[in-house]
Amino acid sequence: MLDRFNEAADILQLHTSLRQKLQRPEKQVTVNFSITLDNGEEQNFEGYRIIHSTALGPSKGGIRYDSDVNLNEVKALAAWMTWKSAVTGIPFGGAKGGIICNPKDHSRSELEKITRAYTKALADTFGPTKDVPAPDMGTGPDEMGWLMDEFSLLHGKPIHAVVTGKHLNAGGSLGRVEATGRGVSIITLLTLEKLGYNNDKTSVAVQGFGNVGLHTALYLYEAGLKIVAVSDVNTALHNPEGINIPELILYSNLHGKSITGYPKATVISHNDLLLLNADVLIPAAKEDVITAANAHDIAASIIIEGANGPVSSDADEILKSKNITVVPDIVANAGGVTVSYFEWLQNSLAQSWPVEQVNTRLEAILNKSFADVFATALQYNITLRTAAYVLAVKKVAQTHQVNQAVA
Ligand code: GLU
Repeated sequence: MLDRFNEAADILQLHTSLRQKLQRPEKQVTVNFSITLDNGEEQNFEGYRIIHSTALGPSKGGIRYDSDVNLNEVKALAAWMTWKSAVTGIPFGGAKGGIICNPKDHSRSELEKITRAYTKALADTFGPTKDVPAPDMGTGPDEMGWLMDEFSLLHGKPIHAVVTGKHLNAGGSLGRVEATGRGVSIITLLTLEKLGYNNDKTSVAVQGFGNVGLHTALYLYEAGLKIVAVSDVNTALHNPEGINIPELILYSNLHGKSITGYPKATVISHNDLLLLNADVLIPAAKEDVITAANAHDIAASIIIEGANGPVSSDADEILKSKNITVVPDIVANAGGVTVSYFEWLQNSLAQSWPVEQVNTRLEAILNKSFADVFATALQYNITLRTAAYVLAVKKVAQTHQVNQAVA
């Protein structure tokens, strides 16, 4: 992760002090809190909130509930948010939070207590013009609603703009749930157009059938692409003739949000899904699924990073030598934070936008960010990832330089 930042910093010849400043988070907070479980026992939890940068605006980024969450992971994810907002052109800095817990092991009421206790512990950090959390892996509109409610209780008034990704009735935005997947599909279609592909002849493998993977697969299916493989945590499915995604979503909804047992596809291994001979591979699950260990065997021509950090930096060179086009996470999955920005704006302005307005503005922002990154990559003959980092780091660095000049 730092490799990519350093490469951009080298190209931009960043001064050592600024380079160090941007390598480190502005602030990192570790909290621990206990809740009473449904069985009456007490359990203690560790959580984090890392503010990487507030140079471009209030820090913004999701909160992850996962048993593997750790400080280094959250630090890396926080920095990614800075670069993501910067390259997308939205006025936010970057942050990320996490709690070490497996949400599947907890009841709704326990999750509510965990979320409220975490919010209380971080009440001084969060704030609509300071640090604005959002959903990430293992969290969704319920958690964001509890966070908003707890923060509001602590301040004695409703403060909707403290968090995004809320339910509609709690001040959420239309289109936010689908936004990341919609964005990934918009970026995929732009990439295909640039590279001269025909939508109806293009095959796609999607790793992950959570919020991001599901909506990505759905919108690309609706655009006429052939979705030949999808997976969730337990099962990977393959059908060279294409999978009917609306039907699979229905199946998954009827089977406890699981695609296991879907009859119209063959079960393959998770690693085989990544190595399938599809035109486009969209890893939309977790970090580090494509590494130096399997990058040589990737058969897709295009990788669109739906997840944050699915390609590790040691795989970058290998994919480049194989002429695989990689559209980096900070461009490809920026739809979520972009509509979070719209939600924050609507809350701050006491407005409620129709979904068409949300989607049109989302598309305009992503079109621009994709065009900027693509043009920079062509101009300097660098990868899309390096181009995205150069644009993002340059923007944040310029803000620091201006601030310094003013001070
Ligand atoms: N967790 C999402 C991301 O990684 C969304 C963050 C946000 O909306 O603030 O981009």
